[in-house]
Amino acid sequence: MIIGAGAAGSTAAFHLAKTGHKVTLLEKNSAPQVKPCGGGMAAAVQEWFPFDLKPAVEDVISKVEFSWCLKDPVIAALPGSAPFWIVKREKLDSLIMDHAINLGTDFINGFEAININRHNSVWEIKASDGRELIAKAVIIADGSQSIWPSKIGLGPKNQHHAQTISVRLKGKGNLKAGTARFEFGLVHHGFAWAFPLANEVNIGVGTFIGNHSIDSKEILNKLLPNLGFNPTDGERREAKLRVWNGHHKLHGEGILVIGDAASICDPFLAEGLRPALMSGYEAAKSLDHWIRGETMSLDIYTQSMKDKWGDSMAWGRRIAQVFYRFPKVGYQLGIKRPTAPQRIAQILSGKMGYGDIAQRVIKRLLLKSQ
Ligand SMILES: Cc1cc2nc3c(=O)[nH]c(=O)nc-3n(C[C@H](O)[C@H](O)[C@H](O)COP(=O)(O)OP(=O)(O)OC[C@H]3O[C@@H](n4cnc5c(N)ncnc54)[C@H](O)[C@@H]3O)c2cc1C
Repeated sequence: MIIGAGAAGSTAAFHLAKTGHKVTLLEKNSAPQVKPCGGGMAAAVQEWFPFDLKPAVEDVISKVEFSWCLKDPVIAALPGSAPFWIVKREKLDSLIMDHAINLGTDFINGFEAININRHNSVWEIKASDGRELIAKAVIIADGSQSIWPSKIGLGPKNQHHAQTISVRLKGKGNLKAGTARFEFGLVHHGFAWAFPLANEVNIGVGTFIGNHSIDSKEILNKLLPNLGFNPTDGERREAKLRVWNGHHKLHGEGILVIGDAASICDPFLAEGLRPALMSGYEAAKSLDHWIRGETMSLDIYTQSMKDKWGDSMAWGRRIAQVFYRFPKVGYQLGIKRPTAPQRIAQILSGKMGYGDIAQRVIKRLLLKSQ
């Protein structure tokens, strides 16, 4: 039983169904929703899927433009070796889910899980409309607002959130196809981004340290005209995004937590799609062995997420704490370095971890900020 049919839950459903397990995917919404997500994702995620993800891809980024308070631009070509896609989230989630359903996953929408309880070695899941289901194993994949990990004692006790605002706009303003924009300086303790879709643009603002609410009106009043839009265009969506906050247990007896619910989103760049897909894949692999009786514990899942993701995020969090405290220095010394776009692309594609660059970056930032 998987709670939440987002990117993480659908991935886990697909891989469990592929190995022949009986899978039920539960989703609280009755129809697909527009998700507050930029949709930026390294093409490297394709490695976890035997089917083509391209139907969800709306643009391929070849160039990035950075600015500080909409000035001092840095324009850089991305290395072709680490392609970066912009997907439409609704399309990505339903593409993966459709493949899971084709392999026999039972999809139940309009099912809002309100209680999860372990009783006589099975998990009981109760919906807001009174329906009750039981399962041998449960995967929690209900996103950043999930209440279950802390109730069950999984994930961090102290959750850390990035505050975000997102807007999807019709047309492309002056944003060129194949170009992603990142603005530092306008946003206190964070940055803003604009990612092109086929005929729309995803714009977002995020703050990553402290507990500031975002003055989105003031930021968007400046940012949108700069991107060729009217400052009041589009519907604004606020979301609290749970980000990585330490190594923690992500499994219990017959239960696993994945995606945003597991607090694994990158605390520096808000990259959440790749870890959501990775955790869905890794969780399905561990659960397959556990259900077959080949292993007694699901601890291999927690361990593999630590090795493949968490170790890099521990450094990402340290970089975020220094970078967003001294963003101007960070922009001058980090972003403006000729090698920066290549390093960012390598990190986002998994070819490098934050640990590979962290000590040099932090030392440079601290020296210059004194
Ligand atoms: C503004 C913004 C921009 C972002 N941009 C990017 C980006 O460009 N690139 C990137 O990599 N990441 C980005 N992220 C992060 C990324 O969107 C998330 O990490 C990703 O959505 C995590 O997927 P998920 O499947 O864990 O959760 P979700 O996509 O949130 O899916 C959870 C699902 O569970 C369902 N659900 C919730 N509660 C229940 C319940 N009680 N019962 C049943 N179902 C339930 C929800 O309806 C939802 O469908 C962004 C996030 C934000 C907020």
